[in-house]
Order: sequence, then structure tokens, then C-alpha cells
Amino acid sequence: MLAHNYQRAEIQEIADLTGDSYELSVRASRTDAAVIVFCGVRFMAESAKILSPGKTVLLPNADAGCPMADMISAEELGKLKSLHPDAYVVSYVNTNADVKALSDVCCTSSNAVDIVRAVPGNTVIFVPDKNLGSYVRRFVDKEMIIWDGYCPTHHHVHPEEVALLKRQHPGALFLCHPECRPEVVGLADMVTSTSGIIRFAKEDTHTEFIIGTEEGILYQLRKNSPEKRFLIASNGFVCPNMKRTRLEDVVAALEQGRHEIRLSPGIIEKARIPLERMIAMGAAATQ
Ligand code: SF4
Repeated sequence: MLAHNYQRAEIQEIADLTGDSYELSVRASRTDAAVIVFCGVRFMAESAKILSPGKTVLLPNADAGCPMADMISAEELGKLKSLHPDAYVVSYVNTNADVKALSDVCCTSSNAVDIVRAVPGNTVIFVPDKNLGSYVRRFVDKEMIIWDGYCPTHHHVHPEEVALLKRQHPGALFLCHPECRPEVVGLADMVTSTSGIIRFAKEDTHTEFIIGTEEGILYQLRKNSPEKRFLIASNGFVCPNMKRTRLEDVVAALEQGRHEIRLSPGIIEKARIPLERMIAMGAAATQ
């Protein structure tokens, strides 16, 4: 049972492993369990199925989707590719399986800069997150054609509210997810993935942090460092889709095998290539 860092506290409490989408996708590919219960949103469970097609992958709540992933279709990416035939296609893992199937490599928020830097050629199509794309663009010397998608949950945060919190808590560090708007990311002391935020807050000597990502992360932060203070950057910093999964859905998944992810063999075969390429590039980057 895998749970994303944005899941409800009671789900994270009973999971075998919690993490960000990269960690969970790698872990899902390595486990020898026959059944994976993936508490997250659909694209994450699809990624687990793509990497482990012989396993049964269950998404406890079938309605848990990702609005950002739905902002680009395979047809739209196909058209974009035909306009830029020499571009290398980098897809954030927050994409549906048929979009991954048209991509050259995937990335996550923790490895996006390294992946875009490492891919061949000077032109990259980056989908679907414009905020992550513009963050990556700051660090790479390549032409980036960035899709106009965004995460409604992170995009909803405005720099004024973060600036106010920083004034009210001058000793706090602002740890921010790159799905936030560039003006918000520009205020950050550290920009990283959810697991990067959790690691940093645990190891750093500061005692107060402003957290620029979905509030489900507070569970791990407070569990790891009960003596530290964590302030969420914006009221209502909640992903409704991540909160759809409840304990009773997990029970139904375990007892009745609900809801199994099914993908066509053709999509699995094609979508596997960019995911495995990302994992191989990630391993090379950490060696
Ligand atoms: S937090 Fe944003 S990117 Fe993540 S699942 Fe929710 S809508 Fe999608």
C-alpha cells in the first residue's frame, strides 16, 4: 500500500510507504507484491501499472483524477509534436498514460531540471505544467516549448499572502513546490518536491517553516519534527482529488479488489519507455 504525501493523515498512517510520485513509482516497479493499492490519483496508479504490468494495481477511489493531467490530451500533444518535429518531449509524470505514450522521457518535480538538462538536442517540448516548466527554464540553456497547464491547487496561491506570512514570521524559511506560480517560487528559500521538503525540514536547524504545497504534507512534517512549527502558505491549500480516498475505499480495495487499473498493452508498451528512461536517468544523476 503506497500513499502520496498529500493523502489524508489516516491513509498515510497505515501505508507501507509514503512519498512523492517519483519515489512511489520507483518503489512500485521494484516491489515483489502481487497487488499494489495506490492511494493517490489516477496518473500515479497508471504509472505503477505501466512499470509493473504483471501486477494488479488498485486505485481505491476511481474518481481521484488530476485536473492538471487532464489539461493536455494525446491528440493535443500529437499536434504540438508535428509542429516541432525535432523537439524532445519531456512529460511531467502528472500526465495520462496516452500522453506518456507519446513522450520521450518523463520527469518529476524532483528531477525535472536534471532531466531537461540531460536530454539530447536544444529544443524541448515540456508538458503539461507551465509553472514547473518556467522553473526549469531558469536552469537550462535550451529552447523550451511549454504547455499552458497548471495545478489548480498550487496555482491558487498568491505571492501577497506568502509575503505577508514572511513578514509575520521573519525567522521562518519558505519551502516551496515548483508547481506554484513563478512569483511565489521567487519568494522561496528552497524549491523542491514534497519529499524534498520533508527531508529538508527534518534536517535543517530552523524551527519554523512556511510550507508552499498541499496541506497533506503537514502529517509527515509534524510526525518527523513535532518540536518545529509549520505554517501552510495559503488557506485552503487542498487538492480535492487527493482527499477523495478515504479509509473505507482502502478497505473496499483490499477486500474486493476495487478499482483495478486497466490499460491496453499497446499503451503500456509505449508509455513504459519514457518512465523507464526517467528512472535510468535519475539513477545516473545520483551516481
Ligand atoms: S495537487 Fe495538483 S497536480 Fe497534484 S494531483 Fe492535485 S491537482 Fe493534480
